[in-house]
Amino acid sequence: MYDFVVVGAGFLGAVFAHEVKKAGKKVLVIEKRDHIGGNCYSYDNPGTNINIHKYGPHIFHTPSKNIWDYINSFADFNQYQHRVLTTAGGKIYPLPINLAPINQSYNLTLTPGEVRAFLESKTPAVSSPKNLEEKAISLIGKDLYEAFVKGYTIKQWGCDPRDLPAEVITRLPVRTSYYDVYYNDDYQGMPVGGYTPIFEKMLKDIPLELKTDFLVKRDYWRSVARTLVYTGPIDRYFNYHYGKLRWRSVRFEIEKMPLEDYQGISVMNYADHEVPYTRIIEPKHFYRERAHLSPGTIVIREYPCDDPSEPYYPVGLEADRETLAKYQHAQSQEKDVIFGGRLAEYKYYDMDKVISRALQQVEELLGVDPMADRSISVSQE
Ligand code: UDP
Repeated sequence: MYDFVVVGAGFLGAVFAHEVKKAGKKVLVIEKRDHIGGNCYSYDNPGTNINIHKYGPHIFHTPSKNIWDYINSFADFNQYQHRVLTTAGGKIYPLPINLAPINQSYNLTLTPGEVRAFLESKTPAVSSPKNLEEKAISLIGKDLYEAFVKGYTIKQWGCDPRDLPAEVITRLPVRTSYYDVYYNDDYQGMPVGGYTPIFEKMLKDIPLELKTDFLVKRDYWRSVARTLVYTGPIDRYFNYHYGKLRWRSVRFEIEKMPLEDYQGISVMNYADHEVPYTRIIEPKHFYRERAHLSPGTIVIREYPCDDPSEPYYPVGLEADRETLAKYQHAQSQEKDVIFGGRLAEYKYYDMDKVISRALQQVEELLGVDPMADRSISVSQE
C-alpha cells in the first residue's frame, strides 16, 4: 500500500513525489511513456553533443526567487536569456513587440515617449476585448496584429483567433523600449545538463514504473494508493464522458546540418501564414558555453497539428470551457484523488507555475511547507 501513487513523471508529478517522499511518505510513480520528464524530456545528440528537447524548447523563466532557488537546488543553470526573431513578409524583426519592430514596420524613428500615442492612433477603442484578436489589436493595432500575430496564431492553434481566449496573447509583452529579452521575468536560464537530470534527481530512490498506462489497470492502482495524484489529460481520466477537450499538438521535423550555425539564434518564428511551420529551433544556441562537436548543427521545424495522442497546448474554445466546467465538477466529486498540471487542469501553465502548484498541493495536503528547510515559503507564490 502506498500513501501516494503519482500518475505521470512531468514536473507536477516529480516535484510532488519528491516532496512527499522527503516528508516520509511512501510513494510510487507510474508513467505511460518510456522516459521521465514529461514534455520537458531532453537528451544529448551523440554526434554533436547538442542537447535536444524532444517535445519542443523549454526555457526556464520565473518572476519568483523562491521557485528559482528551488529549481537551482536540482541543477546549475546557464546565463541564457531568451531572445526571439520573427520573419514576416521577407524581413526579420525582433520580438516581442517593442520599439524596434514598430519603427521598422512603419519606417519611423519613434521614441519611447511617442510610441504609445502612436499605437493608440492605430488601435480602435475596445472596452473589454473578448478574444485573442480583439485583445491583440487593442494592444498593438491592426497592422502589427496582421503582420506578426494573425498568421502565426492561425497556424499555431488551427482556428480563428476570434475564437481563442484573450489571455493567450498576454503571454507576449508589448514594450515601448528596445528591450527585447522575450520574458519579463527576473530569473531565467537553461539547466546546464538539460532537463532530464533534474527529473532523475527529483525521482531518485522513488519506485518508478515506466511504460505503464494508469487507465489500463485503473482499479488496481486505485486499490494500492491511499491518495492518487493524476497529471494526465482530464478528459481521458473520465473516459471522455462529457466529450473531448481540444488540444493542439506539434510535429517536429529534425534536420542535422554540416554547418556551424544555421540561423544565428535559438528561435526564429515565421509569422506568415503561407510558411507551413511556426518556428525553427536551433538548440545549440541555448547552450553557448557547451562544448559542441563541430562542424554540425541541428534545426527543428515545428508544425502544429491535431494529434489527440500527444496533447501539448489546451486550445480553450468556448465549447472546451463548457466541457471543462463539467470535468471540474466531476473532479471535485472524486475522493482521494488530486489533479494537477497542464494536462489535468487543462491550463496553459509554464514550468515555474507547475512547480509552484505542486509545492502548494503538498503544503495543503501535509500541512507542512516543503520550502521550510530552504528558509523560504511557497505560500508567497
Ligand atoms: N504569437 C504570435 N506570434 C509570434 C509568437 C507568438 O502571434 O511570433 C502568439 C500566438 O498566438 C502564440 C501566443 O502568442 O500561441 C503565445 O506565444 P508563446 O511564444 O508564449 O508560445 P509557446 O512558446 O508556449 O509556444
